[in-house]
Amino acid sequence: MKATTIGLAVLILVVSGCKPKQESATSLNEMIWGQEGDRVINLYTLTNKNGMEVKITNFGGIITSVKVPDKNGAIENVVLGFDSLKTYQAGHPYFGSLVGRYGNRIAKGKFVLNDTTYTLAVNNGENHLHGGIKGFDKQVFSLDTAYSSRDSVVLALSYLSKDMEEGYPGNLMVKVRYVLTGNNEIKIGYEAETDKTTVLNLTNHSYFNLTGCRENVLNHEVVLLADSITPTDTTLIPTGVLAPVAGTPFDFTSAHAIGERIAEVPGGYDINYKLRNSSGHLVKATEVYEPVSGRVLETFTTQPGIQLYTGNFLDGSLTGFDRVRYEKYYGFCLETQHFPDSPNKPLFPTTVLRPGERYRHLTVYRFSVRP
Ligand code: BGC
Repeated sequence: MKATTIGLAVLILVVSGCKPKQESATSLNEMIWGQEGDRVINLYTLTNKNGMEVKITNFGGIITSVKVPDKNGAIENVVLGFDSLKTYQAGHPYFGSLVGRYGNRIAKGKFVLNDTTYTLAVNNGENHLHGGIKGFDKQVFSLDTAYSSRDSVVLALSYLSKDMEEGYPGNLMVKVRYVLTGNNEIKIGYEAETDKTTVLNLTNHSYFNLTGCRENVLNHEVVLLADSITPTDTTLIPTGVLAPVAGTPFDFTSAHAIGERIAEVPGGYDINYKLRNSSGHLVKATEVYEPVSGRVLETFTTQPGIQLYTGNFLDGSLTGFDRVRYEKYYGFCLETQHFPDSPNKPLFPTTVLRPGERYRHLTVYRFSVRP
């Protein structure tokens, strides 16, 4: 395994009284992690001046680990993941992945665009899920840019999805830019362009666990700034209507622990919320607090929706970092997105991308602590 350090190593000497105090530097490290076919897979380690560390691979654009301090300064990993590429290659439920072309479900794997019916893989019961059999989560991305500056660390990856890959029309160029800021934020910027009209819904599928992955997430307290959900049928396809959350276990407009009402939600939370703000500007969507560690995760997004998924299908069969078995409810996902099955729901915000248009979205995950 080869490791190099790219970019600027900044040593900041802060003079406190007469004693010079050394803060840590931002850095970006690249390591060869393995191979997928004839392509080299790298693992990038982004570290900011606070010691927050994020690992990202060009296999599936996956965020494999996120280490952040707790209220006592103890730095631990707060996402589910594995330390070997082979484990990701063997298959997993989208841990940390960049999901595309279409995050979430398309009913029966069919949609119509310009009078043409497109047929996608049916890989989730009778529906299409997360881009198909070989979605973006299993593709090899190219490195566009990688550097660290005084305050932030940047990694930009790209992927050309060919016309009719997984049944989707158009050659689609996707660029994703991960920025670790000095404010303990992970900013994920997505851009895409197509040469034929297509549909697109990109998201990141990190499973967070602010305890440091020590126990399940049922004690995490969630605020989700949304007044309605898109209720689904039994195959998790939206019925097409909006339902108010008020008076239901889906209401997180004020803080509630994930576990407080989960017994009233058969299977656990796996639902798309229509966010209050759908202006397309970057606006706060959620705030999650874990009382023992004091860790806080806020989400900001330009997207109109968010899927709250509480790891309902984890069953202990996967073992991650530190030999921890990922049991049911061991992680929660906050998948910022357009609504599921939008290509078949004319009243939902459109997911159509035409030639000459540029798809642009931004999601920010900000970590902090409460004392
Ligand atoms: C979906 C779940 C699915 C999970 C893992 C989530 O985005 O909403 O239904 O099981 O991804 O595939």
